[in-house]
Amino acid sequence: MENREFEQRLSDVKGRAEGSWTAILEAIGVDAKLLNRRNQPCPGCGGTDRFQYTDKYRHGDFHCRGCGPGDGFRLAEMALGLGFIDVFKKVETVVGKPVAAAGAVSPAPPADRMRKLARKIWDEACPVTAGDEVDAYLTNRGLKMDRYPSVLRFHPCLGYFVKEGGKSKKVGAYPAMLACVQGQDGVAVTLHRTYLQAGRKADLPDVKKLLSSGINGAAVRMFPVLDELAVAEGIEKSLAVHLATGKPVWPALNCGNMEKLWIPESVKRLSIYGDNDADKAYDGQAAAYALARRVKKEERRRGFPIRVDVYIPKQAGDDWEDVWVRRLARTLKAA
Ligand SMILES: [Zn+2]
Repeated sequence: MENREFEQRLSDVKGRAEGSWTAILEAIGVDAKLLNRRNQPCPGCGGTDRFQYTDKYRHGDFHCRGCGPGDGFRLAEMALGLGFIDVFKKVETVVGKPVAAAGAVSPAPPADRMRKLARKIWDEACPVTAGDEVDAYLTNRGLKMDRYPSVLRFHPCLGYFVKEGGKSKKVGAYPAMLACVQGQDGVAVTLHRTYLQAGRKADLPDVKKLLSSGINGAAVRMFPVLDELAVAEGIEKSLAVHLATGKPVWPALNCGNMEKLWIPESVKRLSIYGDNDADKAYDGQAAAYALARRVKKEERRRGFPIRVDVYIPKQAGDDWEDVWVRRLARTLKAA
């Protein structure tokens, strides 16, 4: 590898990894206990409480009284007993070439007006934090998290437009949950918006909207993915599956896109969480099995076996969020 080429790759990976290091380190096999931000023995030089993971500068930072400060690469070297190049390759597998980092919206030059607009709206929004409108909405749905995926953002006041005689007209503005939709190359292709009001979905005809249609297999990469990936239809359903199973889940956003969804080359196990639309036209089941079928057919091209499981809730009309919320309600009742 040419030096300059490597530097380019390194800076690219660093950029994509920034802010997502805790998840990345876990994904490449670093013990979660080491990342709990408490004082503890150093994986490099031992002791009893000299080491602390801080992620202070969003680079997976740590401090050790024995071997000094360092970043996520150094931490992984020590924790996994690997050299820099091996750690770099692992991190790149999670955030770089095959899979762009959850959260790293590539600062790619906006190719067209839509991308420019997506970028502008994204920049107006901020990460979801406890107490904001998105947190309130997800909490009301039983989907509260300590830390939300950075591909989700909170927009305090997003314009709501309707088409009138071929023209777009602004008819109001609401808080909104934004989700960044990334194409296969990791570049943000568009935004998904959910308009909110008082901790609920706003009462609007099109409360969920994609900024531009035809996302063609692009996904909201909510969690870093290495060899395992789970897929569900919507954002909320995906969070529910993640909370219930701990798996990295990507929402496909709709049935049509689920069938086309791009699956990273590194994935060896795919779990598809479909809706039970037996009360309607079986769209949820059809999309889930269509994706399973496509991926199995691509197996030979991939060059290694991929295990695919499809999970459909038992009851007609249910999705996995319904199942999760009921389970949560039972737990709360029991407590
Ligand atoms: Zn140390």
